[in-house]
This record gives sequence, C-alpha cells and structure tokens, in this order.
Amino acid sequence: MTSLHDLSADQLTALLAEQQAKYAELGAAGLKLDLTRGKPSPEQLDLSNDLLTIDVQATSADGVDVRNYGGLQGNPALRAMFAELLNVPADSIIAGGNASLTMMHDTVVQALLYGVPGGEGPWKDQQVKFIAPVPGYDRHFTICAKLGIEMIPVELGEHGPDLDEVARLLADPAVKGMWAVPMYANPNGVVYDEATTRALLELPAAAPDFRIWWDNAYALHHLTDDEPRPIDVVSLAAEVGNPDRVLAFASTSKVTFAGAGVGFLATSKANLGAYLDGLGAATIGPDKVNQQRHVQFFGDAEGVRALMRRQRDLLAPKFAVVLDALVSRLGDYGFARWTQPAGGYFVSLDVLDGTATRVVELAKQAGIALTPAGASHPLGHDPHDRTIRIAPSFPPLGDLQTAMDGLATCALLAAAEKLADQQA
Ligand code: PLP
Repeated sequence: MTSLHDLSADQLTALLAEQQAKYAELGAAGLKLDLTRGKPSPEQLDLSNDLLTIDVQATSADGVDVRNYGGLQGNPALRAMFAELLNVPADSIIAGGNASLTMMHDTVVQALLYGVPGGEGPWKDQQVKFIAPVPGYDRHFTICAKLGIEMIPVELGEHGPDLDEVARLLADPAVKGMWAVPMYANPNGVVYDEATTRALLELPAAAPDFRIWWDNAYALHHLTDDEPRPIDVVSLAAEVGNPDRVLAFASTSKVTFAGAGVGFLATSKANLGAYLDGLGAATIGPDKVNQQRHVQFFGDAEGVRALMRRQRDLLAPKFAVVLDALVSRLGDYGFARWTQPAGGYFVSLDVLDGTATRVVELAKQAGIALTPAGASHPLGHDPHDRTIRIAPSFPPLGDLQTAMDGLATCALLAAAEKLADQQA
C-alpha cells in the first residue's frame, strides 16, 4: 500500500469512494458504542466484589473505632500500604475520600484562598498561571478553567514535558503551578524518567511557591510484566532543596471500585499541615469504614499488586485489539500515529492534522462515541486538531473491535476527504 500523501488523484478518488462505502455500511449497522471515558469494565469491578460482603471490623489495627468521627489523616495501615506501593515516606501520605480529583481540586482552591507554605499570600490576589503538558487530562484543565487559572500548554515528549520550555516559563513569577501525570500519562502513556523528574523538582522558579500537582493515578497500572517502581518524588524534592514543590496524588479508583475507592495525597510536612488545616474546616474525618474495608480486602501491598495483575489480564487484550486495528487499518497509509502504552488506561491517536473534529463527528453519526476532539488540550483547543483519546477498558472485546474498525474508517475517510479537497 502507498502512503496517503503519495497517492495519485485517481488513487485518492478510489480510496475516498471505498471508505465512503464502508462508512455507509457502518451507519447502517445501527451501532451504539462508547470509547469515551476510561471506566473499568464490569469484569474489572467484579474482581473486587468481596468488598461488598467483607465483614468489616469496627476497630482498626490502631484501636480506632472506624464507625466514628475523627482520624483526618486516614487509616494508618492503608497509608503504610500505599506509602510502600507509591514509594513515598510513610509519614508523608494521607488517605481521604473516594476521589483523588477532589483532593487536587481542593488543594488548588486552598492555594487560591489561603496561599501555600512559603508563599506570599492567597493566589487569588496574584496572577496565577499553570503549565499544562499536552496532550493531557481534560479534568485537570477543567479545574483550572473553572477557577479562572490561565494554562500554558507545553509539549509532552517521550520522557516528560519539554524541559527547556518549562525552564523558560518558570522565569515568570506568575507561573505557580503545573500538572503532571508521571506514569502512563493520560492520554499518551508517557512515563517521566528520573532525569526529567529530578529537573522538574530542582529547576529554579521565580515563584517561591511554585507547586507541581503530581497525579500518579496510574502508578500501579502496568500492562506488561515490567512493573517499574514509582519515583519517590517526596524524598527527591527534599533532596534537591525544594521539599514543598510536589503534591503527589493517587487512588484506588482503578484498583477496586471507581466510585467507591480511596484517594491519597503524599507531600511535605508543611504542605500536609496546611492541607489538613483547611480540610479540618470541611470534614471531621474521612470514610474510615471504607478505608478499613480496603485494608482487609488487600491484606498487604502484595495483595494490591496481585489484584493489579488480574486487572492487567483483563485490560491487556483490549489494548491489543486497539493496536491491532490501528496497525492493520491505518498502518500502511502513513498519516496517523498512535501510542503503544506500557500501562495506564488510554491510547492516543493522532489523525491527519485538521481532521480530528471531523473524525469524531463522523464516528458520532455512525453511533461510536469518542472523547471530543481537543479534550486533551486546555480549553478544548488542539491547535493541530489531530489528537483523539481512545479508552479501551469499558466495552466488551467484540464491541471494541467493531468500534475500532469504525474509528479507522472515519479516520481514513476524513483524511481522504481533506487531501481530495486540497487536490481539487
Ligand atoms: N487522574 C487521572 C490522570 C485520571 O485519568 C483520572 C481518571 O480518569 C483521575 C485522576 C481520577 O481519579 P479519582 O477517581 O481518584 O478521582
């Protein structure tokens, strides 16, 4: 097969007609498929069904009545377990409610309202900008957009964000925050390497209170036998002399139940103190019953790792279906690129520049729901209109296969339409 860009006018016309015919068949099939959000499938959730029936002990190992108020920092046994798994110091981590996203949102709100340790007062009284590696997680961008924080996109390379650009931006005292998904990034699966991580923690910043929201949502979500340990960012930040720079988050949302797990925050003593001070005004304590339930269900850190291997056994075949479809349907045409993540929940597909919106629209009309084009960029603006996030976890394998074949048809059709237009 010839690369799309090298096709003659006649070949392009033929390809266009072929894909139009395929697309008409797709439309006639009356599909109703969804590749939008990275939700665990029912089979994945079933792996943790014992949580629903476990005989939860009323008293945790440290002698606390988990049914009562109190214990703002969360269950000590669960904190110790996740300190080991996330590779952070045991005294740096707290366990909260069911969503780490809430903790991220609340830490940004607290920074705006109260400021952060070592800062110069509430951020709401200052100009505040966040560095937003792209492609990135749309809900991070929504937090900033909702709170009126300007975002500056920075290209996410193979080992992390473009450091020259980050260094340049940090010379601006208004740059006070940065988003990071350091392992198996949403959506392109990038893993920040040690050198990039160290640089991010030690680069000089004009804002003395610059913070990184280090969202390690997929730290345990390996898709292969290789299970790299997360970098201990809390200790590394201290070692390079910026102990308060990093706020690290994780959760069991994609370990046990996405709607009923436990969120974690690991950070310096000063940051934890400030966070708990604010949190203490909002709650008398987290859901310790659910935390205790998780402690009993997991047993220990190895129990979590074993569960994640079972998750991997369900997820890896789905990623294989996605990648097979992309290779077999788009591989030879040379206009599309995609990621082959070693973990996480997503594959990122770059279609022909200027066609992502059209691809998503074509897919929608054929009954295949995709994340909106542009969602992986601040304010939904992908300047190249080319990145589409594929979330393979939820649909059954057969549906996924059909959806991926349909998506490939839409990508080819949109590309052929565009090139035919240009030739006309
Ligand atoms: N962070 C990232 C990068 C995610 O992709 C997601 C969910 O898709 C979350 C956070 C949500 O985490 P939680 O369920 O703990 O709020």
